[in-house]
Amino acid sequence: MRVIPIVVPTPFYIGPVNCYLVAEDPVTLIDTGPKTKEAIEALREGFRRARVHIRDVRRIVLTHAHEDHCGLAKSLRDEAKDAEVLVHGWETGHRVGRLQHDEHRALLVRAGVPADEISAMRRMYEGMRQLADALEDHEHRELIDDSELEFATGALRVVHTPGHTPGSCSFVREADRTVIAGDCVLKRITPNPVLSPDPIDPSKRFRSLAEYLVSLARLRSLAPTLVYGGHGEAVTDYEELFNRYLRAIRERQREVIKLVPKEGATAWDVAGELFPGVGDMHRFLAVSEAVAHLDLAHSEDKIAVELGGDGREVYRNMSAV
Ligand SMILES: [Zn+2]
Ligand SMILES: [Zn+2]
Repeated sequence: MRVIPIVVPTPFYIGPVNCYLVAEDPVTLIDTGPKTKEAIEALREGFRRARVHIRDVRRIVLTHAHEDHCGLAKSLRDEAKDAEVLVHGWETGHRVGRLQHDEHRALLVRAGVPADEISAMRRMYEGMRQLADALEDHEHRELIDDSELEFATGALRVVHTPGHTPGSCSFVREADRTVIAGDCVLKRITPNPVLSPDPIDPSKRFRSLAEYLVSLARLRSLAPTLVYGGHGEAVTDYEELFNRYLRAIRERQREVIKLVPKEGATAWDVAGELFPGVGDMHRFLAVSEAVAHLDLAHSEDKIAVELGGDGREVYRNMSAV
């Protein structure tokens, strides 16, 4: 099975995204890059070098539905005529571009984000949506955990690895324990658990970090020899990365707990202390990170949380009470 990485530029801070062309029957593209002129040109060049035609693509598989990974899915599907798009059912909000606006707003209010900041986040999000076409229900098929994507000479097993987003998936070639992991595994940075509604009950918050820790352990149980991430170089020593991530998460958790005063603070307050002076879109990622760590600390009984009359959650440091 020929897996060919194609590096595609993005306008995002994270830099280029890695797409993976499986040049085998049926020709399959895993992740597409954002909907920009630069991205489609880089993709076309990658296909040319691999001597594969975009019109021969039969499957477009998405590790998750962030714009840098899914942006071109619809236009490539149209160009390739019979191609089908596959994405996990839990990527609902991102996939259709409606991002469950009310649910999202409710999560931000609960996290203590001020109204003007929520409006600014919404405007930025609307801008980002221009970098991806929405996929309606009839335009994709659901990826099912533990199913196989079959090829003429082998298969990729679908492993649902929620955390970064609820519907993030990885793909494992069992013959040599190679994994394509999207943003679940990034060599140089610990991926952000992005604030999302729970896909089962959107009035609740998705427990991103707890789920992410399970996903990391699940990948570890596969003893991967090579992990292709969504950005940056491939990971050859997953064990080292796993331990490094765990240390970084524990270290961040300690930091977050220290920032929770006994008189109480919202996730927004904690995010401001954790990342002072962050601008624009990073404020959403900052509050996502704070919420994820506060949720994990709360689930481990290290801090208390209560919902105030104003709809905001207030965290209290129990050790200081
Ligand atoms: Zn992502
Ligand atoms: Zn990404």
